[in-house]
Amino acid sequence: MEAYKKTIEEVQMETAVDSQQGLASKEVIRRQKVDGVNKFDEAKGDSALKKFFHSLSDFTTIILLVAAAISFYTAIATDHGDYFEGILIIAIVIINAVLAIVQEGNAEKSLAALQDMNKQSSAVLRAGKVEVIDAEEVVVGDVLVLESGSMITADARLIQASQLRVEESALTGESEPVEKNPEYISKENLPLGDQANMVFKGCTVANGRGRAIVTAIGMRTEMGKIAGLLNNDEQQKTPLQKRLNQLGKRISLIALGAAALVFLIGQQQGEPLLDMFMTAVSLAVAAVPETLTVIVTLTLAFGVQKMAKKHAIIRRLPAVETLGTANVICSDKTGTLTQNKMRVRRVWTRGDEVTDTEDAMTDEAMEVLKMASLCTDVIVDKEGDDLVVKGNPTEVAIVRAVEENYHTKAELEEKYPRIGEIPFDSERKMMTTVHKMGKKYISITKGAFDVLLTHFRFGDLEQAAVVNDRFGKRALRVIAVGYAIYDEEPKEITSEGLERNLRLLGLIGMIDPPRPESKGAIARAKKAGIKTVMITGDHVITAGAIARELGILHDKSEALTGSELQKMTDEELDSRVKSLSVYARVTPEDKIRIVKSWQRTGAVVAMTGDGVNDAPALKASDVGCAMGITGTDVAQGAADMILTDDNFATIVDAVAQGRAVYRNIRKAINFLLSCNISEIFIVLIAMLLGWGAPFTAVQLLFVNVVADGLPGFALGKEPAEKGIMDENPIPRNEGIFARGLWQKVGMNASVFTVITLFGFYLGANVDGISHWIDASYEVGQTLAFLILAYSSILHVFNVRSTQSIFKVKLSSNKSLFEMAVLAILITTTIALLPFTQELFGLVPIGINHWMLAIGLSIVPIFVNEMIKFHYAPEEEE
Ligand code: ATP
Repeated sequence: MEAYKKTIEEVQMETAVDSQQGLASKEVIRRQKVDGVNKFDEAKGDSALKKFFHSLSDFTTIILLVAAAISFYTAIATDHGDYFEGILIIAIVIINAVLAIVQEGNAEKSLAALQDMNKQSSAVLRAGKVEVIDAEEVVVGDVLVLESGSMITADARLIQASQLRVEESALTGESEPVEKNPEYISKENLPLGDQANMVFKGCTVANGRGRAIVTAIGMRTEMGKIAGLLNNDEQQKTPLQKRLNQLGKRISLIALGAAALVFLIGQQQGEPLLDMFMTAVSLAVAAVPETLTVIVTLTLAFGVQKMAKKHAIIRRLPAVETLGTANVICSDKTGTLTQNKMRVRRVWTRGDEVTDTEDAMTDEAMEVLKMASLCTDVIVDKEGDDLVVKGNPTEVAIVRAVEENYHTKAELEEKYPRIGEIPFDSERKMMTTVHKMGKKYISITKGAFDVLLTHFRFGDLEQAAVVNDRFGKRALRVIAVGYAIYDEEPKEITSEGLERNLRLLGLIGMIDPPRPESKGAIARAKKAGIKTVMITGDHVITAGAIARELGILHDKSEALTGSELQKMTDEELDSRVKSLSVYARVTPEDKIRIVKSWQRTGAVVAMTGDGVNDAPALKASDVGCAMGITGTDVAQGAADMILTDDNFATIVDAVAQGRAVYRNIRKAINFLLSCNISEIFIVLIAMLLGWGAPFTAVQLLFVNVVADGLPGFALGKEPAEKGIMDENPIPRNEGIFARGLWQKVGMNASVFTVITLFGFYLGANVDGISHWIDASYEVGQTLAFLILAYSSILHVFNVRSTQSIFKVKLSSNKSLFEMAVLAILITTTIALLPFTQELFGLVPIGINHWMLAIGLSIVPIFVNEMIKFHYAPEEEE
């Protein structure tokens, strides 16, 4: 029989658990051994072989394979038996495919590792204590402790619920949260959506609280049964990666066009057909930017790793790029800009008495705190001598104040047992609990003073309003506490029934000091052209006071309250949004309006959130940032990035890193394309002039893979440049080639072309450069090869920075330096050893030739230095 058809007692018996205590740890271990872990079977990925063949279907790879085929054909046709070229091309194809697979594997692994860091947890009752455990460790019989925002980690039969509503769309498609009721029972067969006494794995608590006994875990849960359908292994490619793949294709097409052209010219000039084939092959391989995609992927992966080290976990790869373009950060206040160490500072009681808690507490003040602490859901624990209070920061502050004054929440709860509650949520901004008090009953309501005001009937409300303002100006959050006494047990636990005609007991003023790093981070963001906007549930005066301290607010007119916002039309909001920097007493719905309004002005918005109802705003924003510590599972699921330290400064760091990644990708493009494009020019021009091909295909492949590839891989590790946060963000739709990148690529390609052709010409035609070596076509080719290889390798130092290469320390990216040296050594060795000379179609050259090659190879450095000298301050690389 299904669990929903059983009574609570039956479920308790069957799962052998005491629902007041939960399972004992020995029993948990035993059950884990028998039932296994609470997770879905993993989907099998594609086999390495399948991935390998898949990568061969890439457009650029196809070009290389055709080139290899032609190369083999000419080797056979000319009977020269030189299969090296064909073999080399095939080898490069294989190396590229293997690299891609390894790289993909690494990316998958690091993504899995990130997911591990962001593992789901679950609150359960074990051995009488509420513990937060890894969701995979949940066993049948565990008692789940459910709160608003928690993810349900197993299928479970409810045993207690208060206003519990669960969002089950993942399972039933129904987006409205469903009301749950542990008492409900039916013997009929019911669809999942109607099983009101059950909660299911993968769904989330939208509201209220409850407890439930786990009846099924892992693949045996309802979600597990359809888990196979949910496996979503769609490859995440960023928009930039997609565009660059397109670019690679386009350049390859240009090369094919150029190859066809060269072929035709050659035929006209009466060159042998096979020679023309060979040149066409070399042009095709020349232009294919073999390493571009791998380098871009590496750069992104490296950026993600760096962000993770700085407490920002990227959940969606495109966020890395978007972060770099963000120009507005909408941030929560509590816990993000502030320390999340809320402390009670003042208490105002009926006797019009303000008690600074630095002094001793009066009995009246204690009375307010004690009452308020009954109306909280925090968990109090002792770790050694330290008091640990976990839960909502406002409530933690209240209970801390009580416990530190020698009372305990436990003792109060025993005296006034709770019999009902209306939970807190950010929309209502208040909370009520009902308790037994001797023979009578008392309801205690606490919440924001201004929101509660209309709910009070008795008490000195005028004076309280004055105190509320005074506390607010001192940046204190004010919580009002009221109560009502009943002779009979209240039947209706609803707002209408309980939260009316209250008596005001007192006000509690508490402070959550700003994080010391917030102010600096806000200033840094401002310098980088990013506006910080504070969005808070707090009172406008309190929020304003803190915002002023942090440098977010400079004038009262920059602050708006939620109710003022609700009165504005979208057009009115759009016209003011740029001048507003504090939104107070807002609801999560207001957050979406603020994001959308900013977006209509063309802004790229990063937004923080932690609650269940923040999820839509997180989704609507360009970069949704969820809190790692206080954030609910729902918020984390909706976010692009998770802040593991809940800290505002982390967002600003992540933006800097995002910008660095974007720049490094631009650097890689400048580096690789300058060389690739120059190769097309060089071959094309030489052919047009009737000089013959300056390179063989093998030489070009070497330049692309070794001279460009090796240093290129290290470009992704380039650290962020100093001035990166002194510039305005990149506009939303700006192309990757904007701000003169095309011009730079074109200019460098031209310089490479001129120096290489010059070297080629001298080597091929001018005798007497070296004493013993006469000019020959092969000497020209050797010179061309050396010049292009060396100058390409050295070009990596040009693209590193907008600053002169003499100002950038080599040690700031050691691997770049090492890779460049390695590439130079390999190139030189190949040109010196007789065996490799033959393989690569090179010949011995004289010392003066060497000097000439080296001299011409450093020309691009001079040209770039001159340009930097003139333009560096305004331009970025
Ligand atoms: P921020 O939006 O800056 O992060 P927050 O998330 O704490 O702040 P909310 O949780 O929406 O904001 O709280 C809004 C208001 O509700 C608070 O200013 C306070 O007056 C009141 N409040 C907060 N927590 C409770 C609670 N547990 N019980 C009753 N009232 C509360």
